[in-house]
This record gives sequence, C-alpha cells and structure tokens, in this order.
Amino acid sequence: MLETKVCIVGAGPAGTAAALQLAQLNIDCIIVDKAVFPRDKVCGDGLSGKVITALNRIDPAIATRLKEANFKLNSWGVTFVSPARHSLDVGYRPDYNSKDGSHKETPIGYVCKRMDFDNFLVDEVKRRKEIQLHENVNIESYELTSDGYIVTGNKGSFQVKAQLLIIANGAHSSFTKNVANITIEHKHYVAGIRAYYKNISGNNPDNFIELHFLKSLLPGYFWIFPLPNGEANVGVGVLSEAVRKKKMNLKKSMLDIIENDPVFKERFKNAELTSSIEGYGLPLGSKKRVISGERYMLVGDAAFLIDPFTGEGIGNGLYSGRLAALEAAEAIRANDFSAAKLAHYDAEVYRIMGPELRLSHRLQKLVNFPWLFNTLMKVSSRNKQLQELLSCMFYEVDLRKKLAKPSFYLKLLFNR
Ligand SMILES: Cc1cc2nc3c(=O)[nH]c(=O)nc-3n(C[C@H](O)[C@H](O)[C@H](O)COP(=O)(O)OP(=O)(O)OC[C@H]3O[C@@H](n4cnc5c(N)ncnc54)[C@H](O)[C@@H]3O)c2cc1C
Repeated sequence: MLETKVCIVGAGPAGTAAALQLAQLNIDCIIVDKAVFPRDKVCGDGLSGKVITALNRIDPAIATRLKEANFKLNSWGVTFVSPARHSLDVGYRPDYNSKDGSHKETPIGYVCKRMDFDNFLVDEVKRRKEIQLHENVNIESYELTSDGYIVTGNKGSFQVKAQLLIIANGAHSSFTKNVANITIEHKHYVAGIRAYYKNISGNNPDNFIELHFLKSLLPGYFWIFPLPNGEANVGVGVLSEAVRKKKMNLKKSMLDIIENDPVFKERFKNAELTSSIEGYGLPLGSKKRVISGERYMLVGDAAFLIDPFTGEGIGNGLYSGRLAALEAAEAIRANDFSAAKLAHYDAEVYRIMGPELRLSHRLQKLVNFPWLFNTLMKVSSRNKQLQELLSCMFYEVDLRKKLAKPSFYLKLLFNR
C-alpha cells in the first residue's frame, strides 16, 4: 500500500491546483485520476480572468506558460442577450475599447478546449517531483481509520493510505454524496449539454463569448464560445428544476434553436457539427454547504462551487484547490486533521467566493423575471457607469460586492 500525507482524488483543474500549490509548499502528495490524459470533459471551455489570477497565485511561471500557449483563443469580453434580444457587450477590462484596440495588449479571458487545458495542468503536475500522479485508477472506496484514510481503486489493486484527502473528482463525486452528505437539489443544479461546431458566422471580432437568454430556455441559456481554427463550443444550460418541470429535452431544444430560430438559422447556415452532443451536471454554489470534515476537504465541483449565473466553475475549482492546499499545510504543521480544524477551509472558501456566489444567485433569480431582466439589459446598454461596473465584475472581484446590493438594482431601475 502507498503512503502519503495528502492524497488528491481527481486531476481536473481543482485537483491539479491543489497538487501544484502543495508542491510550491514543498509538500509531497499523490494525485489519482480514473482517466488517462489528455482526456475530454464536457464544458463550455470558457476561461475567465480568474483562471490566470489563480494560477498566478500558485506559481507565476504557470500563468506565463498558459498565456504563451497557442491552443487557446484570446477573448476580450461577454455578450449578454436578454429574452427580448437586447444585447449588451461587456469587455473583461474596464478600459475595453473596441475601436482603438489598446485593450489588445493584455487579454484576460480565453476559450480553450478542456482536452488541451486540463492536459496543460497535468503537464505542470508532471514537472514536479513532489507530486506522484497515478492515471487510469478509478477510486471506488474510502475507509476512515484512526490515523488516516485508506483509499482503494481498480477493484482493490490500488491502495493509498493518507493522513488527509482532497476530494476533487467532480460533479458526480460519490464521496460528496455518501461521506459529506451533500446531495443534488434541483434548484441548485444545472443540466448542461455541449457540442463543437465549425464555421458559425456573425461572431464578435474580439471573440466575445455569447450568452443568449432565449425565452424557450429560461431560466437557462444558449451559448456560443469561439475557439481557435474557426471552431466554437455551443451548448445549453438550464436549471434542473426547470428541466424536470417542463420535461425539457436539452438536445432537442438546442437543435431546434439552431435549425429554426431566425437569428441562429442564419448564423449556422454553413456550420458543421464536428462532435457528438454530450451532457453533464453543474453543481451550483447558490447554497452554502459544509465542504470539509474529519481528514477531508472537497474542492471544485465536488464542493458545489459553480457560479449560478455564468456557469463558470474552472476558476472556483482552481481557487478552492489552492485554498485546500494552504489549509492542508497548516493541518500537517499542527498535526491536526479534525473537522474543527479543517472548518477553517470552509470559512476561507466562502469568505473569498461567497459574495460573488450570492450576487450571481441574485442575477440567476432575476432571469426568472424576464421583464426585469429585459429592462436591466436595456438600461445597461445605455448606461456607461453600469457597463463599467459589469466589466469590473470580471476584472476585480472586490468591486462585485457593490453589485451584490439589491438597492443597486432598484436605484438603477427607478432613478434613471
Ligand atoms: C455543459 C457544461 C458547461 C460548462 N461551461 C463552463 C465554462 O465555460 N467555464 C467554466 O469555468 N466552467 C464551466 N463548466 C463547469 C466546469 O466544467 C467545472 O466546474 C470544472 O470542470 C470543475 O473542475 P473539477 O476539477 O472540480 O472537476 P472535473 O473537471 O470534473 O475533474 C474531475 C476529475 O476527477 C476524475 N474522477 C472522477 N471520478 C473519479 C474516481 N472515482 N476516481 C478517480 N478519478 C475520478 C475525472 O476523471 C476528472 O478528471 C461547465 C460545465 C458543464 C457541465
């Protein structure tokens, strides 16, 4: 049986971030994944500024290598389209100016196939001698003993004993469900599907990602995220509660939009589907949960940390992985792996991500009131101050707190 201080289950963004941060702290760990990399992951492939910020905090050299990588497309902003088709372009940088091009120096957002991005992170893991990576190992059981966790995989042929576990095995984590007792609640969970297309027309010249809040999908949306080589990631995400209530078939809904919606019919006229259409769950951070316990911490999707408005989970996965590693270092130093000690991890996660998750939950609810959403979008498209604030939302996390106040929206709607 292998022995280690920290075992990380899952080598997606959250698990690799935890491993890389531990390595920076000179702490050895074992990281296990059932897949062999490069592997695909159903996703929109959108990477916001948070991704570079998080990688930079772990190790600026990793952030630099990602900035230099050529498998991604630089994106300078987001286009929101309301149910009444009011469109609002929000640059990621407050100084975004589509005309003079000065913003082009430093892109903040990227679109990048997960096949490439996750493999980039695993390559970073492979550079570090402090990290032992085991691919092709499917973890099946966890046993808590007096001095650690015994983790078993591949029908008993793989075993690790660890003082501490970092659970990073994504939205379908059995540990999250069976040990941490966090179960799916359909009002805090999104069902999503994704496909790759080539040759869609009408894309934004600065590669803005597009979120279309179409009437037929509310409270969800249809997205188009441009990729290198004329490809795009196209998908639909809808709150599971609505999918069940309306008995929606997301694949059918998406194909119907592409084939019959007057705007998209035109834009997809020469487009070609280049992949299968795949679905996966998005566990939302719209409800606070207990994400640690005796000898374990949950990170990324296993901790239900996806942004409830944008569906973004990679940034929060990286952030939570890093925070778990910092907490692990402190637990090892104190030789204390109790639930009480590790509860500090929960406090840190929600101190840092809580305000933004709460704001996004509010915005998500707003989408349930199309008239309010339409009005907000209409007002925003004419209000420079609000546009700046919205772009700060992507650029500067602290400024988002301003947006989390209900009075902000009331003022906006009624003091125009
Ligand atoms: C349709 C859709 C669109 C999305 N769009 C975006 C987007 O555009 N931008 C964004 O930021 N986020 C997006 N997300 C969310 C994003 O995909 C996740 O938040 C992100 O992948 C979470 O990273 P993670 O490391 O926690 O989990 P994952 O990326 O799921 O990684 C988990 C890893 O654990 C491994 N694993 C699972 N079970 C086991 C086991 N038993 N034993 C060993 N290994 C195991 C898996 O092989 C996998 O490598 C989207 C999600 C979906 C479903």
